[in-house]
Amino acid sequence: MDVQSQIFAQIKKYSKIIIHRHQRPDPDAIGSQVGLAEILRASFPYKEISIVGKQIAGFNWIGAMDEIDNDAFNDALVIVVDTANAPRIDDRRFDQGAQLVKIDHHPNDEPFGDIMWVREAASSSSELIFDFYDQFRTELTLPQKASHALLAGIIGDTGRFLYPATTPHTMRVAASLMEAGADAAAIGQHENELSLPVARLSAYVYENLTVLEHGAAYLILTNDILAKFNLGDSGTAGIVPIPGRLKTVRSWAIFVQQDDGTYRVRMRSKDAHINEIAKLHDGGGHPLASGAKAKDEQEIKQIIAQLDQLTIETQKGE
Ligand code: AMP
Repeated sequence: MDVQSQIFAQIKKYSKIIIHRHQRPDPDAIGSQVGLAEILRASFPYKEISIVGKQIAGFNWIGAMDEIDNDAFNDALVIVVDTANAPRIDDRRFDQGAQLVKIDHHPNDEPFGDIMWVREAASSSSELIFDFYDQFRTELTLPQKASHALLAGIIGDTGRFLYPATTPHTMRVAASLMEAGADAAAIGQHENELSLPVARLSAYVYENLTVLEHGAAYLILTNDILAKFNLGDSGTAGIVPIPGRLKTVRSWAIFVQQDDGTYRVRMRSKDAHINEIAKLHDGGGHPLASGAKAKDEQEIKQIIAQLDQLTIETQKGE
């Protein structure tokens, strides 16, 4: 039996299913979570399906979270989507169920759960959820709300079909989701929208980005700078892809100061596998999109030097 069939057998077996995703969610985390929940709700109306994690108002257009008691976890199947490692799972009760399933597309460096379905080559977890639906489509229903959520996740994680993880299969899945009622234009509008503070911070990024000779680039956003733009850490998500628009930039890191004075590091690349650097600094992620932590300016300097070095080596190897 393949892993997907094992997961489907568990879904059929349990009458309570609780779906988690990662902290600080993005459209793919919410989209795959809501998409799976809506497929299961439509297919098994007599089962209790819940989605948990912090309610994020900015993502209510994809779907809202449920509030459930601790008792709900008794004899429940818990499915965690889009989350590479257990410490990042939102709602820490994830280990209180009877069975734990991981469905993800990040490198499986820190496995968890009783059953794991991890496909790194998938553009997004939302694409995986569609594939799951497709494999068992004679027994599952794909309602409009699920198709909308899943397409939101795919569009989010592929940067609107811009990143290399976008495959012909991704495009076919997107087409199927549109046929099932997803409104691609509305999703594009939601994900393209900027608040005025983020628009102004974008201008700051273009003006203040440091681009090194070989294409490594970086920007440090201290709490003082963020306060001037009236933004906190969560307001920086929209500016992370910006340096990649510059032709000369090959890889980049944005250092975002946290309340405790340390820095969250958001790294991206067009070719070099920057997750190797992220792993050295309490982080990880995809080869071309990773996150890490820097405790002080000293560690920031170290990360910049490593990024510069890796960018040079990658170009030499080409
Ligand atoms: P972000 O810059 O936060 O959008 O993160 C990009 C990707 O890096 C995410 O999809 C995660 O897979 C990964 N990531 C971010 N932060 C961490 C972390 N602290 N530990 C492991 N992986 C991370």
